[in-house]
Amino acid sequence: MFGLRAVFGRTVILAALASAAASAAISGDGRLTRRPPPAPRTLVIDAGHGGADGGAVSEGGLRESEVNLDIALKLYRLAGFLGVRAVLTRDGETIEYSDDAVTVCEKKRDDMRSRLRVIRAAENAVLISVHQNKYGSPQPSGAQVIYAPDDDSRLLGESVQDALMDALGRGNRRGAVRDGGDIYLLNNAGCPAILVECGFLSNPAEEALLRTDAYRTKLAAAIAGGLRRR
Ligand SMILES: [Zn+2]
Repeated sequence: MFGLRAVFGRTVILAALASAAASAAISGDGRLTRRPPPAPRTLVIDAGHGGADGGAVSEGGLRESEVNLDIALKLYRLAGFLGVRAVLTRDGETIEYSDDAVTVCEKKRDDMRSRLRVIRAAENAVLISVHQNKYGSPQPSGAQVIYAPDDDSRLLGESVQDALMDALGRGNRRGAVRDGGDIYLLNNAGCPAILVECGFLSNPAEEALLRTDAYRTKLAAAIAGGLRRR
């Protein structure tokens, strides 16, 4: 028993020393200085589509770009409330393009480049891209997270997917999935990155929910909750 306690005590002291060493360094004049703590994360909240690209549109005329923006703004305000540094890639439905972007395709490419600039300018960025799903038949429903192909993004994606399942009910049985390489922002962000498909505009019941302020707030709160678990 004594031996065990002695070993335990030494382990605790070693751990304390290791932690002190990690946060302190010897300066040029020989004094012990404290290293600055690691920079906090910056949440880059990306409302998918917008401007010339409205994204998916439901049969009832609900535009994905508008739903995405509203959820992104709610998440941005929640981040502020929680003391998490956050930036938005867009804060309105209008997007300004460079003069040489004329066609919709050129405008989308220009928009993606400017979103990437926002991500890369953010210190210690974590990207959350907000989207809505659409399918050819009305049955599919539920939220689904797609993560960039690296471990940090996977852990983040699984955490947000769990939080969404908890918030939206166990009927939402989708699991987080790895991006196959076709989502431009996820694959070029260079930081932990996930895309949240919040719901299906092609499912009438879910489309009706996605029209409501309460459901959008619930989605934003669930995403924020999932981020805090990581
Ligand atoms: Zn989309």
